[in-house]
Amino acid sequence: NWTRAQPPLLRFLHACYANFLPEDGGAVADYIPELGKADPAHFGIGLATLDGHVYEVGDTRIPFTIQSMSKPFVFALALDTLGAERVERVIGVEPSGDPFNSIRLNAENHPFNPMVNAGAIACSGLIHADKGDGAFEYIRQALGRFAGRELDVDEAVYASESATGDRNRAIGYLLRTNGVITENVPDVLDVYFRQCAILVTARDIAVMAATLANRGINPLTEQQVMTPYAISRALSVMTSSGMYDFAGEWIYRVGVPAKSGVGGGILAALPARLGLGSYSPKLDKHGNSVRGIKVCQALSAHYDLHMLNRS
Ligand code: GLU
Repeated sequence: NWTRAQPPLLRFLHACYANFLPEDGGAVADYIPELGKADPAHFGIGLATLDGHVYEVGDTRIPFTIQSMSKPFVFALALDTLGAERVERVIGVEPSGDPFNSIRLNAENHPFNPMVNAGAIACSGLIHADKGDGAFEYIRQALGRFAGRELDVDEAVYASESATGDRNRAIGYLLRTNGVITENVPDVLDVYFRQCAILVTARDIAVMAATLANRGINPLTEQQVMTPYAISRALSVMTSSGMYDFAGEWIYRVGVPAKSGVGGGILAALPARLGLGSYSPKLDKHGNSVRGIKVCQALSAHYDLHMLNRS
């Protein structure tokens, strides 16, 4: 039996892949028309440990757009770039219980948290306020340091979201009229749409998650890519708000800080332990990858990973 020769973790990931491959529920996101072209058969699982080992099963080298999984990284980048006080003054950290694209702001007319679109657009606006026309490149480089390699942009997905993203534009204008962003709204949305169209693989996401789990030190490059303060706060908002309006259920059942994206990715980072990246484009009604959720649930249950059940 060939599986005998494999380390147990890899064997477990192979079993997850085989068990959840037939899972056919959910639907590929198509409100960004270009995303609708994703192949629903694709399924990849990457797991990176903090000693720099990456386990890969299935389609772990297929590129897809990062979408909302960019949000914790850009929030961390904003904290480090502008200082926590400046960022925390205009973006809250309370879960909203609303869908990701909700246009509702909190009682102070600020975004509820950086994991919903309003908060993420505010983060892109803050980076733009500091870096001007270089904002997107600054973000792309920072995300690349988390992945340990240069990341590209899917120009077709970017153009598709830019052509159809009026709801996010409306959020941008709402943020501007409330003084959360001071920048020209189309410029900020351009940064946000481009950041969402950054191309990653399940392997990249696993390494990025492991960097979060490792207090900002990329386990492959051994570079400190962000301060421990920014990393711990990014993990905090992932814990409370990372999985859309399923976040409470998620942290209760799975117990691992995570963030999903409508491109079909899920990033899960268990501090001091591991980073997981999964890719499978079919999403459930909350916008979370159906197979990705199953992988995280199985992994957490099998290895007893709930973060509030540690010795
Ligand atoms: N670019 C997407 C949007 O703003 C990201 C959504 C997501 O992944 O949750 O609609």
